[in-house]
Amino acid sequence: MKVIIIGLNHAGCAAAKTLLNLGGVQLHIYDQMREISFLSCGMALWIGGQLASGEGLFYASPDDFSGHGTKVFIETRVDSIDFKSRKIFCTDKHGKQFVDTYDKLLLTTGSRPRRAGIPGIDLDNIFSVKTYRDGEATVRQLARPEVRRIGIVGAGYVGVEMAEACCRQGKEVYLFDTAPRILYTHTDRIFSELIAKRMTDRGIKIYTGTRVTGFDGTKSVNGIRTSRGRFGIDMALVNLGSEPCTELGRGVLNFGPGGTYRVDDYQQTNLPDVYAAGDCACVYNNATEEYEAVSLASNAIRTGIIAALNIAGFPSPHHGSQASSGLSIYDMKLLTTGISVRAAQNLGLDVKWVDVEDAEYLNASDGNKVKVTLRLVYMSSDRALVGAQIASLADLSGMIHALSLAVQNRMTIDALAWQDVFIMSEITGENLLRKAALQAG
Ligand SMILES: Cc1cc2nc3c(=O)[nH]c(=O)nc-3n(C[C@H](O)[C@H](O)[C@H](O)COP(=O)(O)OP(=O)(O)OC[C@H]3O[C@@H](n4cnc5c(N)ncnc54)[C@H](O)[C@@H]3O)c2cc1C
Repeated sequence: MKVIIIGLNHAGCAAAKTLLNLGGVQLHIYDQMREISFLSCGMALWIGGQLASGEGLFYASPDDFSGHGTKVFIETRVDSIDFKSRKIFCTDKHGKQFVDTYDKLLLTTGSRPRRAGIPGIDLDNIFSVKTYRDGEATVRQLARPEVRRIGIVGAGYVGVEMAEACCRQGKEVYLFDTAPRILYTHTDRIFSELIAKRMTDRGIKIYTGTRVTGFDGTKSVNGIRTSRGRFGIDMALVNLGSEPCTELGRGVLNFGPGGTYRVDDYQQTNLPDVYAAGDCACVYNNATEEYEAVSLASNAIRTGIIAALNIAGFPSPHHGSQASSGLSIYDMKLLTTGISVRAAQNLGLDVKWVDVEDAEYLNASDGNKVKVTLRLVYMSSDRALVGAQIASLADLSGMIHALSLAVQNRMTIDALAWQDVFIMSEITGENLLRKAALQAG
Protein backbone atom coordinates (compact mmCIF):
# COMPACT_ATOMS: atom_id res chain seq x y z
CA MET A 1 0.00 0.00 0.00
CA LYS A 2 1.31 3.42 -0.93
CA VAL A 3 0.55 6.28 1.43
CA ILE A 4 1.16 9.97 0.75
CA ILE A 5 1.37 12.48 3.60
CA ILE A 6 1.13 16.17 2.72
CA GLY A 7 2.62 18.34 5.49
CA LEU A 8 5.56 17.24 7.65
CA ASN A 9 5.23 19.22 10.83
CA HIS A 10 3.71 17.90 14.07
CA ALA A 11 0.75 15.92 12.72
CA GLY A 12 2.71 14.73 9.68
CA CYS A 13 5.79 13.70 11.71
CA ALA A 14 3.67 11.82 14.25
CA ALA A 15 1.80 10.00 11.49
CA ALA A 16 4.97 9.19 9.52
CA LYS A 17 6.75 7.81 12.61
CA THR A 18 3.74 5.67 13.46
CA LEU A 19 3.43 4.28 9.92
CA LEU A 20 7.17 3.55 9.77
CA ASN A 21 7.05 1.75 13.11
CA LEU A 22 4.13 -0.35 11.95
CA GLY A 23 5.88 -1.13 8.65
CA GLY A 24 4.34 -2.56 5.50
CA VAL A 25 3.68 0.73 3.72
CA GLN A 26 5.43 2.62 0.98
CA LEU A 27 5.45 6.22 2.18
CA HIS A 28 5.93 9.46 0.22
CA ILE A 29 5.95 12.64 2.32
CA TYR A 30 5.72 16.20 1.03
CA ASP A 31 6.36 19.58 2.63
CA GLN A 32 6.84 22.95 1.00
CA MET A 33 9.23 24.07 3.75
CA ARG A 34 12.89 23.17 4.24
CA GLU A 35 12.53 22.93 8.02
CA ILE A 36 10.28 20.29 9.52
CA SER A 37 9.06 19.64 13.09
CA PHE A 38 9.49 23.26 14.19
CA LEU A 39 8.17 23.85 17.73
CA SER A 40 6.39 27.21 17.48
CA CYS A 41 5.71 26.86 21.20
CA GLY A 42 9.35 27.80 21.82
CA MET A 43 9.17 30.85 19.56
CA ALA A 44 8.58 33.32 22.41
CA LEU A 45 11.65 32.05 24.31
CA TRP A 46 13.75 32.47 21.17
CA ILE A 47 12.41 35.92 20.34
CA GLY A 48 12.70 36.98 23.98
CA GLY A 49 16.35 35.91 24.09
CA GLN A 50 15.89 33.18 26.69
CA LEU A 51 17.06 30.76 24.00
CA ALA A 52 20.25 31.75 22.19
CA SER A 53 18.88 30.47 18.87
CA GLY A 54 15.98 28.62 17.31
CA GLU A 55 18.17 25.65 16.38
CA GLY A 56 17.03 23.59 19.36
CA LEU A 57 13.37 23.91 18.45
CA PHE A 58 13.35 20.90 16.11
CA TYR A 59 12.95 17.25 16.99
CA ALA A 60 13.17 15.58 13.57
CA SER A 61 14.91 15.93 10.23
CA PRO A 62 13.87 14.59 6.80
CA ASP A 63 16.63 11.95 7.10
CA ASP A 64 14.80 10.42 10.08
CA PHE A 65 12.09 9.29 7.67
CA SER A 66 14.01 8.50 4.50
CA GLY A 67 14.95 4.98 3.38
CA HIS A 68 13.11 1.65 3.45
CA GLY A 69 10.81 2.70 0.61
CA THR A 70 10.07 6.08 2.16
CA LYS A 71 10.78 9.23 0.20
CA VAL A 72 10.69 12.72 1.70
CA PHE A 73 10.14 15.61 -0.70
CA ILE A 74 10.92 18.85 1.14
CA GLU A 75 10.68 22.29 -0.42
CA THR A 76 8.05 20.73 -2.65
CA ARG A 77 4.61 22.20 -2.81
CA VAL A 78 1.55 20.10 -3.56
CA ASP A 79 -0.47 22.34 -5.86
CA SER A 80 -3.59 20.25 -6.36
CA ILE A 81 -5.07 16.80 -5.96
CA ASP A 82 -7.25 14.73 -8.30
CA PHE A 83 -9.07 12.65 -5.73
CA LYS A 84 -10.78 10.52 -8.42
CA SER A 85 -7.57 9.26 -10.04
CA ARG A 86 -5.67 9.47 -6.68
CA LYS A 87 -2.98 11.78 -8.08
CA ILE A 88 -1.19 14.73 -6.53
CA PHE A 89 0.41 17.50 -8.60
CA CYS A 90 3.59 18.99 -7.21
CA THR A 91 6.21 21.69 -7.84
CA ASP A 92 9.69 21.38 -6.37
CA LYS A 93 12.02 24.24 -5.38
CA HIS A 94 13.51 24.40 -8.89
CA GLY A 95 10.05 24.86 -10.40
CA LYS A 96 9.95 21.30 -11.73
CA GLN A 97 6.42 19.92 -11.86
CA PHE A 98 5.57 16.26 -11.40
CA VAL A 99 2.77 13.88 -10.46
CA ASP A 100 2.61 11.21 -7.77
CA THR A 101 -0.07 8.63 -6.96
CA TYR A 102 -1.43 7.13 -3.74
CA ASP A 103 -3.62 4.38 -2.39
CA LYS A 104 -4.26 6.33 0.80
CA LEU A 105 -3.73 10.01 1.48
CA LEU A 106 -3.20 11.92 4.72
CA LEU A 107 -3.60 15.70 4.75
CA THR A 108 -1.61 17.34 7.54
CA THR A 109 -1.33 20.76 5.93
CA GLY A 110 -1.86 22.61 9.24
CA SER A 111 -2.66 26.27 9.53
CA ARG A 112 -1.25 29.72 8.83
CA PRO A 113 -1.53 32.94 10.83
CA ARG A 114 -4.71 34.86 10.03
CA ARG A 115 -3.83 38.22 8.47
CA ALA A 116 -7.16 40.04 8.40
CA GLY A 117 -7.27 42.74 5.77
CA ILE A 118 -6.00 45.59 7.94
CA PRO A 119 -5.01 48.44 5.57
CA GLY A 120 -1.21 48.69 5.34
CA ILE A 121 -0.57 45.16 6.64
CA ASP A 122 1.82 44.44 3.75
CA LEU A 123 4.28 47.17 4.77
CA ASP A 124 7.79 46.08 5.77
CA ASN A 125 8.45 45.27 9.41
CA ILE A 126 5.04 43.75 10.04
CA PHE A 127 5.39 40.10 11.00
CA SER A 128 3.34 37.11 12.07
CA VAL A 129 5.04 34.27 13.87
CA LYS A 130 4.54 30.64 12.96
CA THR A 131 7.48 29.15 11.08
CA TYR A 132 11.20 29.03 11.78
CA ARG A 133 11.70 31.65 9.08
CA ASP A 134 9.17 33.95 10.75
CA GLY A 135 11.21 33.56 13.94
CA GLU A 136 14.47 34.37 12.15
CA ALA A 137 12.99 37.49 10.52
CA THR A 138 11.51 38.72 13.80
CA VAL A 139 14.70 38.14 15.80
CA ARG A 140 16.79 39.89 13.12
CA GLN A 141 14.53 42.91 13.14
CA LEU A 142 14.35 43.16 16.92
CA ALA A 143 18.15 43.15 17.10
CA ARG A 144 18.26 46.54 15.34
CA PRO A 145 18.64 49.28 17.99
CA GLU A 146 16.56 51.74 15.93
CA VAL A 147 13.59 49.36 16.28
CA ARG A 148 12.38 50.64 19.65
CA ARG A 149 8.58 50.61 19.64
CA ILE A 150 6.62 47.45 18.86
CA GLY A 151 2.89 47.33 18.19
CA ILE A 152 1.34 43.95 18.84
CA VAL A 153 -2.10 43.27 17.39
CA GLY A 154 -4.11 40.55 19.11
CA ALA A 155 -3.88 39.68 22.79
CA GLY A 156 -4.53 35.95 22.56
CA TYR A 157 -1.92 33.41 23.69
CA VAL A 158 0.60 34.24 20.96
CA GLY A 159 0.19 38.02 21.22
CA VAL A 160 0.64 37.96 24.98
CA GLU A 161 3.74 35.75 24.70
CA MET A 162 5.17 38.05 22.01
CA ALA A 163 4.56 41.12 24.16
CA GLU A 164 6.64 39.60 26.95
CA ALA A 165 9.33 38.51 24.48
CA CYS A 166 9.68 41.99 22.92
CA CYS A 167 9.68 43.64 26.35
CA ARG A 168 12.46 41.28 27.46
CA GLN A 169 14.45 42.63 24.50
CA GLY A 170 14.16 46.11 26.01
CA LYS A 171 11.52 47.35 23.58
CA GLU A 172 8.57 49.65 24.23
CA VAL A 173 5.56 47.41 23.74
CA TYR A 174 1.95 48.33 22.90
CA LEU A 175 -0.55 45.47 22.91
CA PHE A 176 -3.93 46.01 21.22
CA ASP A 177 -7.10 43.96 21.14
CA THR A 178 -10.73 44.70 20.37
CA ALA A 179 -11.83 42.37 23.19
CA PRO A 180 -12.49 43.92 26.59
CA ARG A 181 -9.50 42.12 28.14
CA ILE A 182 -6.49 40.04 27.17
CA LEU A 183 -6.83 36.26 26.62
CA TYR A 184 -10.54 36.84 26.23
CA THR A 185 -11.37 33.69 24.27
CA HIS A 186 -9.37 31.40 26.56
CA THR A 187 -9.92 32.49 30.12
CA ASP A 188 -12.18 34.30 32.55
CA ARG A 189 -11.62 37.78 33.86
CA ILE A 190 -9.71 36.97 37.08
CA PHE A 191 -7.10 35.08 35.10
CA SER A 192 -6.78 37.72 32.38
CA GLU A 193 -6.25 40.31 35.08
CA LEU A 194 -3.56 38.29 36.87
CA ILE A 195 -1.59 37.95 33.65
CA ALA A 196 -2.23 41.56 32.56
CA LYS A 197 -0.86 42.83 35.88
CA ARG A 198 2.40 40.93 35.42
CA MET A 199 2.74 42.57 32.02
CA THR A 200 1.84 46.14 32.97
CA ASP A 201 4.14 45.90 36.03
CA ARG A 202 7.01 45.42 33.55
CA GLY A 203 5.96 48.38 31.42
CA ILE A 204 3.91 46.73 28.66
CA LYS A 205 1.07 49.03 27.65
CA ILE A 206 -2.17 47.16 27.10
CA TYR A 207 -5.01 48.70 25.09
CA THR A 208 -8.01 46.41 25.17
CA GLY A 209 -11.37 47.44 23.74
CA THR A 210 -9.30 49.01 20.98
CA ARG A 211 -9.74 48.40 17.25
CA VAL A 212 -6.70 48.57 14.98
CA THR A 213 -7.82 50.29 11.79
CA GLY A 214 -4.59 50.47 9.80
CA PHE A 215 -0.83 50.74 9.59
CA ASP A 216 0.99 53.87 8.37
CA GLY A 217 4.27 54.08 6.52
CA THR A 218 5.74 54.39 3.04
CA LYS A 219 7.98 51.32 2.78
CA SER A 220 8.26 50.31 6.44
CA VAL A 221 5.61 50.67 9.07
CA ASN A 222 5.96 53.78 11.24
CA GLY A 223 2.57 54.00 12.89
CA ILE A 224 -0.51 52.10 13.88
CA ARG A 225 -3.98 53.65 13.71
CA THR A 226 -6.47 52.57 16.33
CA SER A 227 -9.84 53.59 17.76
CA ARG A 228 -7.79 55.28 20.52
CA GLY A 229 -5.67 57.29 18.13
CA ARG A 230 -2.37 56.81 16.37
CA PHE A 231 0.75 55.29 17.95
CA GLY A 232 4.22 55.65 16.46
CA ILE A 233 5.85 52.21 16.06
CA ASP A 234 8.93 50.78 14.34
CA MET A 235 7.68 47.22 13.98
CA ALA A 236 4.43 45.27 14.37
CA LEU A 237 3.52 41.70 15.16
CA VAL A 238 0.08 40.58 14.06
CA ASN A 239 -1.39 37.65 15.96
CA LEU A 240 -5.03 37.23 15.06
CA GLY A 241 -5.22 33.47 15.45
CA SER A 242 -4.77 30.92 12.71
CA GLU A 243 -6.72 29.63 9.74
CA PRO A 244 -6.52 26.07 8.42
CA CYS A 245 -4.73 25.40 5.11
CA THR A 246 -7.42 23.48 3.29
CA GLU A 247 -7.25 24.74 -0.30
CA LEU A 248 -6.30 21.28 -1.59
CA GLY A 249 -9.64 19.77 -0.59
CA ARG A 250 -11.91 22.55 -1.81
CA GLY A 251 -14.90 21.40 -3.83
CA VAL A 252 -14.40 17.72 -2.97
CA LEU A 253 -13.92 17.27 0.76
CA ASN A 254 -16.50 18.25 3.35
CA PHE A 255 -15.73 21.16 5.62
CA GLY A 256 -16.34 21.55 9.35
CA PRO A 257 -16.11 24.41 11.86
CA GLY A 258 -13.63 27.22 11.24
CA GLY A 259 -12.92 26.05 7.69
CA THR A 260 -11.31 22.76 8.82
CA TYR A 261 -11.74 19.46 7.03
CA ARG A 262 -14.69 17.55 8.45
CA VAL A 263 -13.35 14.23 9.75
CA ASP A 264 -14.98 11.41 11.69
CA ASP A 265 -13.65 9.89 14.92
CA TYR A 266 -11.13 7.92 12.83
CA GLN A 267 -9.71 11.06 11.16
CA GLN A 268 -11.31 10.01 7.88
CA THR A 269 -12.78 12.63 5.57
CA ASN A 270 -15.89 12.03 3.46
CA LEU A 271 -13.69 10.05 1.04
CA PRO A 272 -12.84 6.53 2.25
CA ASP A 273 -9.07 6.59 1.71
CA VAL A 274 -8.46 10.24 2.50
CA TYR A 275 -7.63 11.26 6.06
CA ALA A 276 -6.82 14.58 7.72
CA ALA A 277 -5.19 15.42 11.05
CA GLY A 278 -3.78 18.35 13.01
CA ASP A 279 -4.76 21.99 12.60
CA CYS A 280 -6.41 21.39 9.20
CA ALA A 281 -9.00 18.97 10.65
CA CYS A 282 -11.80 19.52 13.14
CA VAL A 283 -11.89 17.73 16.46
CA TYR A 284 -14.63 16.77 18.92
CA ASN A 285 -14.51 18.86 22.08
CA ASN A 286 -15.56 16.82 25.12
CA ALA A 287 -16.48 19.95 27.06
CA THR A 288 -18.84 21.53 24.53
CA GLU A 289 -19.80 18.19 22.92
CA GLU A 290 -19.32 19.86 19.53
CA TYR A 291 -16.73 19.57 16.76
CA GLU A 292 -14.43 22.58 16.54
CA ALA A 293 -11.16 23.88 15.12
CA VAL A 294 -8.32 23.41 17.62
CA SER A 295 -4.89 24.77 16.85
CA LEU A 296 -2.59 22.94 19.23
CA ALA A 297 0.53 20.85 18.68
CA SER A 298 -0.73 18.38 21.30
CA ASN A 299 -3.83 17.74 19.23
CA ALA A 300 -1.83 17.59 16.00
CA ILE A 301 0.45 14.86 17.36
CA ARG A 302 -2.42 12.84 18.80
CA THR A 303 -4.57 13.03 15.68
CA GLY A 304 -1.56 12.29 13.45
CA ILE A 305 -0.96 9.04 15.33
CA ILE A 306 -4.67 8.14 15.23
CA ALA A 307 -4.84 8.78 11.47
CA ALA A 308 -1.77 6.60 10.88
CA LEU A 309 -3.19 3.71 12.92
CA ASN A 310 -6.44 3.82 10.97
CA ILE A 311 -4.65 4.09 7.63
CA ALA A 312 -2.59 1.04 8.58
CA GLY A 313 -5.74 -0.94 9.37
CA PHE A 314 -5.81 -0.70 13.16
CA PRO A 315 -9.20 0.92 13.89
CA SER A 316 -8.52 3.55 16.56
CA PRO A 317 -11.17 6.12 17.41
CA HIS A 318 -10.39 9.57 18.74
CA HIS A 319 -11.50 10.24 22.30
CA GLY A 320 -12.04 13.94 21.81
CA SER A 321 -10.12 16.93 23.08
CA GLN A 322 -10.33 19.35 25.96
CA ALA A 323 -8.00 21.79 24.17
CA SER A 324 -5.82 21.87 27.29
CA SER A 325 -3.12 24.50 27.11
CA GLY A 326 -0.46 26.27 29.11
CA LEU A 327 1.12 29.71 29.07
CA SER A 328 3.88 31.19 31.19
CA ILE A 329 4.11 34.98 31.41
CA TYR A 330 6.89 36.33 33.61
CA ASP A 331 6.81 32.97 35.43
CA MET A 332 3.08 33.09 36.08
CA LYS A 333 1.71 29.83 34.69
CA LEU A 334 -1.78 29.91 33.31
CA LEU A 335 -3.12 26.43 32.69
CA THR A 336 -6.50 25.66 31.21
CA THR A 337 -8.60 22.72 30.13
CA GLY A 338 -12.11 22.57 28.68
CA ILE A 339 -14.06 25.80 28.58
CA SER A 340 -14.19 29.00 30.59
CA VAL A 341 -17.39 30.45 32.01
CA ARG A 342 -17.35 33.13 29.34
CA ALA A 343 -16.95 30.60 26.54
CA ALA A 344 -19.72 28.43 27.99
CA GLN A 345 -22.12 31.35 28.27
CA ASN A 346 -21.24 32.38 24.75
CA LEU A 347 -22.33 28.94 23.58
CA GLY A 348 -25.56 29.15 25.59
CA LEU A 349 -24.43 26.46 28.06
CA ASP A 350 -25.88 26.74 31.55
CA VAL A 351 -22.81 26.41 33.82
CA LYS A 352 -21.87 27.10 37.41
CA TRP A 353 -18.37 27.62 38.78
CA VAL A 354 -16.36 27.67 41.97
CA ASP A 355 -13.22 29.65 42.68
CA VAL A 356 -10.38 29.14 45.11
CA GLU A 357 -8.50 32.42 45.08
CA ASP A 358 -5.05 33.11 46.45
CA ALA A 359 -4.79 29.74 48.18
CA GLU A 360 -1.42 29.04 49.78
CA TYR A 361 0.20 26.04 48.16
CA LEU A 362 3.48 24.29 48.86
CA ASN A 363 5.76 24.66 45.84
CA ALA A 364 7.52 21.35 45.31
CA SER A 365 10.53 22.92 43.61
CA ASP A 366 11.66 25.17 46.48
CA GLY A 367 9.52 24.25 49.50
CA ASN A 368 8.02 27.75 49.72
CA LYS A 369 4.35 28.59 49.82
CA VAL A 370 2.97 30.10 46.61
CA LYS A 371 -0.39 31.53 45.67
CA VAL A 372 -2.78 29.58 43.49
CA THR A 373 -5.96 30.78 41.81
CA LEU A 374 -8.23 28.00 40.61
CA ARG A 375 -11.61 27.93 38.90
CA LEU A 376 -13.69 24.85 38.16
CA VAL A 377 -16.58 25.12 35.69
CA TYR A 378 -19.38 22.55 35.68
CA MET A 379 -22.77 22.02 34.06
CA SER A 380 -25.77 23.10 36.08
CA SER A 381 -27.78 20.11 34.81
CA ASP A 382 -25.68 16.99 35.44
CA ARG A 383 -22.81 18.70 37.33
CA ALA A 384 -20.24 17.33 34.84
CA LEU A 385 -16.95 19.20 34.99
CA VAL A 386 -16.46 21.08 31.70
CA GLY A 387 -13.51 23.33 32.39
CA ALA A 388 -10.76 24.48 34.72
CA GLN A 389 -8.28 27.34 34.90
CA ILE A 390 -5.28 27.60 37.20
CA ALA A 391 -2.83 30.48 37.67
CA SER A 392 0.23 30.22 39.88
CA LEU A 393 3.97 30.73 40.02
CA ALA A 394 4.14 27.02 40.89
CA ASP A 395 4.06 24.45 38.12
CA LEU A 396 0.70 22.75 38.64
CA SER A 397 0.69 20.86 35.32
CA GLY A 398 -0.16 17.62 37.15
CA MET A 399 -3.31 19.22 38.50
CA ILE A 400 -4.50 20.42 35.09
CA HIS A 401 -3.72 17.01 33.54
CA ALA A 402 -5.97 15.40 36.16
CA LEU A 403 -8.67 17.95 35.45
CA SER A 404 -8.34 17.36 31.70
CA LEU A 405 -8.97 13.66 32.31
CA ALA A 406 -11.96 14.52 34.49
CA VAL A 407 -13.46 16.70 31.72
CA GLN A 408 -12.74 14.02 29.11
CA ASN A 409 -14.66 11.48 31.16
CA ARG A 410 -17.41 13.91 32.20
CA MET A 411 -16.70 13.36 35.87
CA THR A 412 -19.07 15.23 38.15
CA ILE A 413 -17.74 17.93 40.41
CA ASP A 414 -19.03 15.89 43.36
CA ALA A 415 -16.98 12.83 42.35
CA LEU A 416 -13.94 15.08 41.92
CA ALA A 417 -14.16 16.00 45.62
CA TRP A 418 -13.43 12.38 46.51
CA GLN A 419 -10.70 11.72 43.97
CA ASP A 420 -7.93 9.72 45.63
CA VAL A 421 -4.75 11.81 45.68
CA PHE A 422 -1.62 10.95 47.61
CA ILE A 423 -0.13 13.07 50.37
CA MET A 424 3.59 13.45 50.88
CA SER A 425 4.70 16.47 52.80
CA GLU A 426 7.70 17.33 50.62
CA ILE A 427 5.83 17.30 47.32
CA THR A 428 2.14 17.87 47.76
CA GLY A 429 0.24 20.83 49.11
CA GLU A 430 -3.34 21.13 50.19
CA ASN A 431 -5.82 19.23 48.00
CA LEU A 432 -7.17 22.30 46.24
CA LEU A 433 -9.37 20.28 43.91
CA ARG A 434 -11.25 18.86 46.88
CA LYS A 435 -11.45 22.28 48.49
CA ALA A 436 -12.99 23.74 45.32
CA ALA A 437 -15.26 20.79 44.59
CA LEU A 438 -16.67 20.77 48.13
CA GLN A 439 -17.57 24.43 47.73
CA ALA A 440 -19.74 23.40 44.80
CA GLY A 441 -21.58 20.86 46.96
C1 LIG B 1 3.78 31.22 18.20
C2 LIG B 1 3.03 29.94 18.39
C3 LIG B 1 3.09 29.28 19.61
C4 LIG B 1 2.41 28.09 19.80
N1 LIG B 1 2.48 27.45 21.01
C5 LIG B 1 1.87 26.27 21.19
C6 LIG B 1 1.96 25.60 22.45
O1 LIG B 1 2.60 26.08 23.39
N2 LIG B 1 1.33 24.41 22.58
C7 LIG B 1 0.62 23.84 21.55
O2 LIG B 1 0.08 22.72 21.71
N3 LIG B 1 0.49 24.47 20.36
C8 LIG B 1 1.08 25.67 20.16
N4 LIG B 1 0.96 26.32 18.95
C9 LIG B 1 0.14 25.72 17.89
C10 LIG B 1 0.93 24.66 17.10
O3 LIG B 1 2.12 25.22 16.60
C11 LIG B 1 0.07 24.13 15.95
O4 LIG B 1 -1.13 23.64 16.48
C12 LIG B 1 0.82 23.03 15.22
O5 LIG B 1 1.91 23.55 14.53
C13 LIG B 1 -0.09 22.29 14.24
O6 LIG B 1 0.65 21.27 13.65
P1 LIG B 1 0.25 20.67 12.23
O7 LIG B 1 1.23 19.62 11.92
O8 LIG B 1 -1.20 20.31 12.24
O9 LIG B 1 0.34 21.89 11.23
P2 LIG B 1 1.52 22.91 10.88
O10 LIG B 1 2.47 23.05 12.00
O11 LIG B 1 0.84 24.14 10.40
O12 LIG B 1 2.29 22.19 9.68
C14 LIG B 1 1.70 21.99 8.43
C15 LIG B 1 2.78 21.69 7.42
O13 LIG B 1 2.17 21.45 6.16
C16 LIG B 1 2.94 22.05 5.13
N5 LIG B 1 2.07 22.32 3.99
C17 LIG B 1 0.90 23.00 3.98
N6 LIG B 1 0.36 23.03 2.75
C18 LIG B 1 1.23 22.37 1.94
C19 LIG B 1 1.23 22.07 0.55
N7 LIG B 1 0.23 22.43 -0.26
N8 LIG B 1 2.27 21.38 0.05
C20 LIG B 1 3.30 20.98 0.85
N9 LIG B 1 3.32 21.24 2.18
C21 LIG B 1 2.32 21.92 2.72
C22 LIG B 1 3.49 23.31 5.80
O14 LIG B 1 4.67 23.76 5.15
C23 LIG B 1 3.76 22.84 7.22
O15 LIG B 1 5.07 22.38 7.40
C24 LIG B 1 1.64 27.53 18.74
C25 LIG B 1 1.57 28.20 17.50
C26 LIG B 1 2.25 29.39 17.33
C27 LIG B 1 2.16 30.08 15.99
